[in-house]
Amino acid sequence: MPESLIDKALETATDTHAIEIGRGVVATTGRLFAERFPGRAGIIVADENHWRVAGRQVVESLTSAGVRLLDPYVFPGTPTLYAGYDNVETVREELRGKDAVPIAVASGTLNDIVKRACGELEIEYLCVATAASMDGYASYGASITKDGFKQTLTCPAPAVIVADLDIMAGAPERLTATGFGDLIEKVPAGADWIICDELGIEKIDPYVWSLVQGPLRESLADPQGCKDGDPEAISGLASGLVMSGLAMQAYQSSRPASGGGHHFSHLWEMEHYGLDWDPPLSHGFKVGLGTVSVAALYEVVLAADLASAIDVDAAVAAWPTWDETEAQLKAALTPDLHEPALAQTRGKYLGSDEVRARLELTIERWPVIEKRLREQLLPAAVLKEKLDTVGAVTHPSQIGMPMDRFRDTYHRARWIRTRFVLTDLLTQANLLDPFVDELFAPGGFWAEQ
Ligand SMILES: [Zn+2]
Repeated sequence: MPESLIDKALETATDTHAIEIGRGVVATTGRLFAERFPGRAGIIVADENHWRVAGRQVVESLTSAGVRLLDPYVFPGTPTLYAGYDNVETVREELRGKDAVPIAVASGTLNDIVKRACGELEIEYLCVATAASMDGYASYGASITKDGFKQTLTCPAPAVIVADLDIMAGAPERLTATGFGDLIEKVPAGADWIICDELGIEKIDPYVWSLVQGPLRESLADPQGCKDGDPEAISGLASGLVMSGLAMQAYQSSRPASGGGHHFSHLWEMEHYGLDWDPPLSHGFKVGLGTVSVAALYEVVLAADLASAIDVDAAVAAWPTWDETEAQLKAALTPDLHEPALAQTRGKYLGSDEVRARLELTIERWPVIEKRLREQLLPAAVLKEKLDTVGAVTHPSQIGMPMDRFRDTYHRARWIRTRFVLTDLLTQANLLDPFVDELFAPGGFWAEQ
C-alpha cells in the first residue's frame, strides 16, 4: 500500500498522530515515543505471550532513545486474556497516579483493555501491534464485556501505532485468519452502505469510503501468503486493517467497516457463543462466517431482481405494528437481550406509510443500486475460498453451531443494532423468509455446502 494513503488518513485522524508499518519498525518505537512524548517516562503493558514476542525489542528501542521505563505490567499468558471490564479496571488502577505514558505491546484484546483504561484516565498511549488480528488498533472505542454485554465503549485510539510486519508475520495463524475475517466483511458492508446511500438512510462519505474500500481488494488478494506469514501479504492485511480503523476514527462510527456480517457476529457474541472456550471464539472467525452468509443472500437478491420481486401493497399490509415487532423480537431473543435490542430496533422502526415510501424508492432506484452492488460485491464462493485458504471459519459446523441456529441468525441478527443492513430492507419488503429459504433449499448456497 502506498505510504501516502496512510499519511493522508492521518491528517483527518482525531487521535492518532503517527503510524509506522513495515519490517523491523519495532526499532523505531523509541524515536516515535520521544517525538510524541518528549521527556516522559514509559510503562509497558503486556501479557506474557506478547512480552515474549516483542517485549525485549520494545525495551531496547525505548531505552536506546533515552526513555526511562517504569516496571512493566504483565498479565499471565494463560488463560487467554479476556476483554472484560474487570481487566480495564486493573490496568487503569495500575496506571493511575503514575507519571508515565503506557506502551501496549498487544493484539486485539489487550489493546482494547489499555485503550479504554487510558480513555478513562484521559491519557494518550502508544501501541505496538503484535498481530494483524482485527481493525481495532486505530479505531475509536474498545470492544469490552461490561455488565454481561459485549459493547463498544468509547475511548480515543492510540496516539502512536507501531506495526512491525516481522512480528506480525510470526503471530499464530489463528490471529492472522481472524484479522482476515474482520477485513473481508468490508466487502458486503460496503454493499449495505450503498443501499443506505441510495435510499437516503445514511449517505456515503466519499473520503471515508475511500480509506476502507480503496485498498481493500489488494489487502485481501493473498490469503495463502497471509497464512504462510509472508511479510508482503501481512503488510497488505495489516494496512487494510489500520486504514479501516482510521476510517472509523474519522467517521466516529463503525459504519465504514461494519455491516450485516458484523451483526451476525455481534448477536453470537451477545449470546456468549464460544466466549468461554479457550481461546474464545474470535471476533474475526464469527465475522468471516457472517460475511459469507450475507454475500450469499446478496446473490439471491440480485438473481431475483429485487424491484420486480417487491409487492408494495402486500408488503405494507404484512408490515407489523410496533407492538407486533416488539413481540416478534421478544420471541426471537433471550430475555437478557430484550431491553438493549428493543432500544436498537426502535431506532430503525418505520410506520407503514414510511415503509411504503421506502419500498417505492427502492423500486425506483433499483437499477442504480443493482449496478453499484454488482461492482462492489464478490461472489460468496470467492469470499469463502479466501477465508478457507487463510484458515478462517466459513461453515457453522466448524464452530459446532447447529444448522437451525445458524439459519435463524439471518432473521435475528438485525434486532441487535440500529444500523440498517440488507436484512432490514428484505424484512420491510416482506422477502426475507423466501430469500433465506432459497439459500437452504436444494441447490441453494448452504444446501450445497
Ligand atoms: Zn470487526
